[in-house]
Amino acid sequence: MHSGPDLIARRRIEDLEVRLQQKEADIAMLSEIAAVIGSEYSLEKVFELVAERAGDLIQAETITIPVLSPDGTEYTYRAAVGAHADELKNSCIPIEVGVCGWVLRHRKAWWRGVLNELDEQERNRWEQDAGSLILVPLIGKRQFLGGIAGINKRGGGEFDLRDLDLLGLFAGQVSIAIENAMFFEELNAAREAAEAFRARLEESNERLSRANEELQHLVVHDPLTQLPNRTLIADRLQQGILGAQRNRHTSALIMVDLDHFKEVNDTLGHAVGDALLINVGKRFLNILRAPDTLGRLGGDEFAIVLPKATQEEAIIVARKLQGTLQKPVSVEQNSFSISASMGIAMYPEHGADPSTLLKSADVAMYVAKSNRDELAVYNPADDKHNPDRLELLRDLRTAIREQQIGLAFQPTLDLRSGTLVGIEALARWTHPTRGPVAPSEFIPALEQTGLIKPFTLQVLEQAIRACKRCQEQGFDLSVSVNVSVHNLRDNYLEQQIDDLLDQYEFDAGKLVLEITESAIMQDPEYSLGILGALNAMGVRLSIDDFGTGYSSLSYLKRLPVQQLKIDQSFVSHMLGDNDDAMIVRSTIDLAHNLGLHTVAEGVETRSVLEALQKMHCDIAQGYFISHPLPIDDLLKCLENGDWQVMPDRGDAAAG
Ligand code: C2E
Ligand code: CA
Ligand code: CA
Repeated sequence: MHSGPDLIARRRIEDLEVRLQQKEADIAMLSEIAAVIGSEYSLEKVFELVAERAGDLIQAETITIPVLSPDGTEYTYRAAVGAHADELKNSCIPIEVGVCGWVLRHRKAWWRGVLNELDEQERNRWEQDAGSLILVPLIGKRQFLGGIAGINKRGGGEFDLRDLDLLGLFAGQVSIAIENAMFFEELNAAREAAEAFRARLEESNERLSRANEELQHLVVHDPLTQLPNRTLIADRLQQGILGAQRNRHTSALIMVDLDHFKEVNDTLGHAVGDALLINVGKRFLNILRAPDTLGRLGGDEFAIVLPKATQEEAIIVARKLQGTLQKPVSVEQNSFSISASMGIAMYPEHGADPSTLLKSADVAMYVAKSNRDELAVYNPADDKHNPDRLELLRDLRTAIREQQIGLAFQPTLDLRSGTLVGIEALARWTHPTRGPVAPSEFIPALEQTGLIKPFTLQVLEQAIRACKRCQEQGFDLSVSVNVSVHNLRDNYLEQQIDDLLDQYEFDAGKLVLEITESAIMQDPEYSLGILGALNAMGVRLSIDDFGTGYSSLSYLKRLPVQQLKIDQSFVSHMLGDNDDAMIVRSTIDLAHNLGLHTVAEGVETRSVLEALQKMHCDIAQGYFISHPLPIDDLLKCLENGDWQVMPDRGDAAAG
């Protein structure tokens, strides 16, 4: 028989056993839940699972999981299941508000039983509306996360101590899983951000390298034709040389210079000139093969690198290039027949490096141009015979392109009135290394290469501008410009002069074109025509160096000129040489008989001047009156008025 206390003890043991079994069941359930939740990495899923299981665990109608914001100022219901779940989920509430705020601030559980633990103030605050509510904190290993809240017991009643216990345990179990999932989420977000960043970086890199490529392209290409420029051509040439060395073959460089390009540019405008260059570039490209490079060296100069070619092959290519120019090029409404001069230089025969090859091809090109041939292969003899001249030609091209050739102006004196009546424009070129080069040296070179045409145009413009300046300062002068025989053969000359007169509103009658007697007599019939046309514009014409060209009197009579310039070789010796004196005198008489004025050149002394006066020569020009002067000095000289009236000077040459 069991005594009373025994019974009590047994009951207590039974009771404990029941509770133990319950605990064991709870633990089993909790670990099962924790295992499920712990294997989940999606935070959303974890919150959902936790909320559902917590609801079952404590039989709550609603479960929410408020999660604290990183700065601890607010919390968000990251999960809600049960009644009003949709409203609750994801709503965000300041930390100061509600039970959640209290739990999150105090980091301890809330349920009705906690009311008497609160201080007066807080108790009063919650007492009225503390319904059936339970809320336990969620504390992770690294940080405070938030809480799990149960609202209203299913089937009525209050949450009790056991519920609190269970939910507390549950929170402890799942907090790590939640923290991990949160961490995982953060990690994912960070990874995504990193990925996005990497993608952006990649994109920027790509854009940068594209920009770099563009820049690279710009640096080594000609912006107009998009062809390689001199730098890239030199580089391709270098590569060609290396390949040729390795494989023991030859390379070729062809240099091309378009004939009369400058005139097209000057008369029809840059747009037409540009279009022409682009068109020519395309034609050339069409006949070249893949390893060949076509480039534009500047102006109207092209170059073609043939990395593997014999001289014969290079000549064939050059002929093909010439062939592409046979068909006229049409730009806008204009159609041009264009020709080119080409020079060929071979590696290794004509140069071992790009710059020597470029120079050799250039020399060959000038030889072709001078001989009016289509093409020439470099020949060292061209260098040896006349290295200076070829270099001079190269430099002259640059000088003209860059308008480096200036003018000096020599006044002419009317011998009857003693006043200055005109100025002659004389070209002056100071070579960057050689110093001043005489016109007698560079003018023939310009004539041989056709450069004389753009050059004369520059001279005409400068001369008209200078004379205009004099006129504006009150000096009524005419200006003489020397015109070469090649200019007479230039179909554009007339129009160009007309345009300049228009542009500067310059009186045609104040422009004198000087043409040498020998130039006129080269083709007298032709000269008659073109001089007639120029004369019709109102421009005055003068025969220069008269007495040296054996004019036939019959032509002289028909030439529409107004002036003869007696060559200085007769004038300067006229006082000591009777023949010369006679020539001067009879030229003056002849001119007067034909109704022409005479100008005596090379007047170096006062006695010559006086002798000319006695012979009724009209005009004198020479050092005695003035050396050719830069425009500013000339203006000063005019202002000083030395020659307004006949000065009383000694026989010394005047400066
Ligand atoms: P030119 O047309 O007979 O020019 C006169 C030359 O005689 C000039 O030489 C001038 O400086 C020089 N001179 C002037 N007064 C005297 C003097 O009292 N004594 C001596 N001994 N010489 C005097 P420059 O400037 O050297 O020109 C030489 C030639 O070059 C010119 O002879 C002309 O044929 C040509 N030239 C000069 N400028 C041009 C130009 O713009 N175009 C063309 N086509 N030819 C030009
Ligand atoms: Ca002259
Ligand atoms: Ca002369």
